Amino acid sequence: MNIHDRATIEIRGKKIVILGLALSGAAAAKLAVRQGADVFVSDNQDTLALQDTLTDLKALSIPGELGQHSDQIYDADLWIISPGIAQDSELVQKAQSNDIPIVSEIEFSSWFTEAPILAITGSNGKTTTAHLLAEMIQTDDLHGALAGNVGIPFAEMVLEDLGNPDPKRVWVLEISSFQMEFIEHFKPYIAIFLNITPDHLNRYPSMKEYIAAKMNMWSRQTAEDFIVYNADDTILVEEIAESTSRKIAFGLGHHPEAIFQPNRTKIYTEEHATLIEMNQLALPGKHNLANALAAATAAHLMGVPNKSIAATMSQFSGVPHRLEPIAEINGVTYINDSKATNLDAVQVALESFTQPIILLLGGLDKGGDFRSLLPHTHNNLKEVIAFGQAKELILTALRDAVRSTSVMDLKEALELAQNCSQPGDVVLLSPGCASFDQFENFEKRGDHFRSLVTVMEKA
Ligand code: ADP
Repeated sequence: MNIHDRATIEIRGKKIVILGLALSGAAAAKLAVRQGADVFVSDNQDTLALQDTLTDLKALSIPGELGQHSDQIYDADLWIISPGIAQDSELVQKAQSNDIPIVSEIEFSSWFTEAPILAITGSNGKTTTAHLLAEMIQTDDLHGALAGNVGIPFAEMVLEDLGNPDPKRVWVLEISSFQMEFIEHFKPYIAIFLNITPDHLNRYPSMKEYIAAKMNMWSRQTAEDFIVYNADDTILVEEIAESTSRKIAFGLGHHPEAIFQPNRTKIYTEEHATLIEMNQLALPGKHNLANALAAATAAHLMGVPNKSIAATMSQFSGVPHRLEPIAEINGVTYINDSKATNLDAVQVALESFTQPIILLLGGLDKGGDFRSLLPHTHNNLKEVIAFGQAKELILTALRDAVRSTSVMDLKEALELAQNCSQPGDVVLLSPGCASFDQFENFEKRGDHFRSLVTVMEKA
């Protein structure tokens, strides 16, 4: 099947194989069937959740298999591949040698919508910024809809719109670097780059490949499209230099070319009027100020009035599992930052508090250097409690500089934290690691933390 010319792509009657049946795979299957394709789904895992998904799809006459990838997957005109499958896997190589074109679910979905796409990528802050921007893009003329890595597949939203087209639709997509693999035509009208830090180094052979995957987001843009970029991030500035898109800066530093300029007390507009006072911002921390500036800049480019941008900034109070206050027990504040799955996110969490911090750190190591946390502690890191698979690595890296203990799991970590805390302390779950050694995902880890704290609160 030839997919090189977007205008002539026709999937009606074509054999489409979907590899990976997580949320986005199942949604892509439904979208493909709606467009008249002959779909087969395949996942090499066989869990109860996947069995439920397959039962749902079979009710729509979509056949599939679990627990294996049989040879049937190579009888295909097109593959839609899950972001969980690596570009250099054997499976992918075999498809490529059989001349089967491979696209991601994001790419596939983008073929069936002409609405403008605002896409957000970066190492940290994507979900927060995407939610914030989607709230800003709600005006009489613009109907923003959130999708992508936020847990709402783009395919699902595109399918919904096909049944009920909305001429005012604007997509706000959170995009991970994995979703930018297997892209052919996907082209955001505004590509928002938040920051680039060493994340996912266990998947990409080097920082270079990781950055290349992220930069795929602007490679098909034209001079009509925008890149909104963090001008404080020198790697990013260098990487986008060769793009011919219209480049619009945002940042915490002094960037006279930016649309919105922050100082210590206010954010100013291009006309030097006050957009909003800092103390009116609902989200805490400098990192969230950067996220807010990114969203505001994109919203401004879409023509959202400054007044409504400012109103959203003062009302939006965040997304669960990101520096989420859970409870105050005996003067100790418990914070759930389970989404902090890399060390850069832990650094910003540490920078967001002036109180003494007891840090719960651990999970599945992603190859970062835990010593990178030390310059961010400002002596208020009182104790580190390490748990999970990475615990020994954490102790080795930190114990000479901070009091550090290791325990088996999150429950023991929290019990120990409670025992050694004093009124005025912050107990911060900001694990800096993936969750998969002991949890299904970061949400389950955060929910577990929240329920353990709630039990403590009631005791
Ligand atoms: P993502 O979707 O990119 O993972 P989130 O908004 O879910 O980003 O935030 C993930 C973690 O990163 C949270 O722990 C949050 O406190 C932290 N964080 C949020 N924004 C930034 C930023 N701009 N820079 C660094 N860390 C951030």
